[in-house]
Amino acid sequence: MKSVGVTARWALGALVMGGLAAWLAGTEPSAAQQSGPLPGKCQPGPNALGTSRVVEIDTTAGPRFGRQQYPDHDFLQDGEVVLTFDDGPHPAYTLPILEALDEHCIKATFFMVGRQALAFPKYAREVGRRGHTIGTHTWSHANLGRSSPEKVRSEIELGISAVQFALNGTTAPFFRFPYLSDSRGAQERETANISIDVDSHDYRTRSPSRMMSNVLSGLQAKKKGIVLFHDIQPSTAQGLRQLLAELKARGYRIVHIRPKQTQSTVAEFDQRIERAHGSPKLDAVAAGPVERRAVTAPSWETQAARPVPVAQPRPRARSDDWWRSVFGTN
Ligand SMILES: [Zn+2]
Repeated sequence: MKSVGVTARWALGALVMGGLAAWLAGTEPSAAQQSGPLPGKCQPGPNALGTSRVVEIDTTAGPRFGRQQYPDHDFLQDGEVVLTFDDGPHPAYTLPILEALDEHCIKATFFMVGRQALAFPKYAREVGRRGHTIGTHTWSHANLGRSSPEKVRSEIELGISAVQFALNGTTAPFFRFPYLSDSRGAQERETANISIDVDSHDYRTRSPSRMMSNVLSGLQAKKKGIVLFHDIQPSTAQGLRQLLAELKARGYRIVHIRPKQTQSTVAEFDQRIERAHGSPKLDAVAAGPVERRAVTAPSWETQAARPVPVAQPRPRARSDDWWRSVFGTN
């Protein structure tokens, strides 16, 4: 395994109990709690996974990861796992997931849907406050592989503007296509397109143990990987804590991916988000029953039936050049 430009460190982060109590009581944490460094280090106990290393990704060249679609590049060593959570934030399920991650002193990546972040900004900010990486996943979870270039641009840009508006901060230039439906070149930004290696299939079951066995069997087959979960799914919210304990028992190590760059927004789309903020439409999303807030909504049958396309490797001069451009070193 070549040495890559990564920073190995134990992830920082500890829960600010006073801030959590205020947050749970429905009040916003103070500005200092939101923006200041988290005090102390998360010290993983003997049964906690901990974050084994941080990989910093240079997104300038628009790298693509996740061997299910993009088999050409891989930064993980055997036994290494990246945890990703899509489609949130969600008022019922995001927080239990954050608690389970904190218990194990590990950091994950959340691909937020713009509409969800705007409807539930408190939960979006809580993900950021705890030190996780936040990428985007379009404005409305549209299937971009079937959309016009104009729609693709609008969905991507509105998603970025909405999540940044909700966070009152920047996102990582990390993107995941809804349904892993790649629009093939419609994305113009210098953004990492992050697909998956292992699918928890948490949207196909309400059983935490089923979700868990899906992940464990997937990792056993592939030996490592970027794992897909959804923080709008009860099977993941309920089963994550036990899954993390099992990953620890089996010797897996957690890798936290972070961007080298931050992501800018486009003024035109920022203005559209500012107009959408507080609209009755968003209020309806926030006030609706839990099931209707979940916007991933692939039917189990269609999701299972549709094969995920495998992209052809892009032509490039030398893989070492590409590696250096992404990670900054060989
Ligand atoms: Zn999704």
